[in-house]
Amino acid sequence: MLLVGDAAGLVDPVTAEGISNALHTGELAAASLLETGFNPEKAGARYENKIRQGVLPELKAAAWLAWLLYEKPKAASWFFRNHGARLAEKVTDITLGQATYREALTKPFYYWKLLAKMFAGKSQPPKW
Ligand SMILES: Cc1cc2nc3c(=O)[nH]c(=O)nc-3n(C[C@H](O)[C@H](O)[C@H](O)COP(=O)(O)OP(=O)(O)OC[C@H]3O[C@@H](n4cnc5c(N)ncnc54)[C@H](O)[C@@H]3O)c2cc1C
Repeated sequence: MLLVGDAAGLVDPVTAEGISNALHTGELAAASLLETGFNPEKAGARYENKIRQGVLPELKAAAWLAWLLYEKPKAASWFFRNHGARLAEKVTDITLGQATYREALTKPFYYWKLLAKMFAGKSQPPKW
C-alpha cells in the first residue's frame, strides 16, 4: 500500500492546499508500481525515494515558513508590514508552480535567508 496526498500528510503547511500534491504523489505512486513490475518492496522503496527527492524537501522548507507565520505572531506581523506584498506574490508564484519554497529560502528572497540564518543552529528560536 502506498500512501499519497492527505493520507501521507502532504498538505502545504503554509496554504493548506493539498490537491497538487495528492495528484502529483498519485502519479509518483503509479509510476513506482509500473517501474518495479508491481513488486511491493521495490515499489515502496522507489516511491519513497521519489517523494524524498522532490516533495518532502519542499514541504520541509514550507514548514519553516509556516512556523514563522503561524507560531510567531510578532515575526509574522513584522514580515507582513515590511514585506507583505512581496511575500504574497511569492506564495502565489509557488502555488502556481512557478517557484518553490526552497528557491525562495535560498535565492533572491534575501530576507527569508536572513531570517533562516538568524534561527539556524538555535534549538530555541529567539523571542519576538
Ligand atoms: C474545506 C477545505 C477546503 C480546501 N481547499 C483547498 C483548496 O482550495 N486547494 C487545495 O489544493 N486543497 C484544498 N483542500 C485540501 C484538499 O481538499 C485535500 O488536500 C485533497 O483533497 C487531498 O486529496 P486526497 O486524494 O489525498 O484525499 P481526499 O480528497 O480526501 O480523497 C480521499 C477519498 O478516499 C475516500 N475514502 C476514505 N476512506 C475510504 C475507505 N475506507 N474506502 C474507500 N474510500 C475511502 C474518501 O471518501 C475520499 O473520497 C481543502 C480541504 C478542505 C477540508
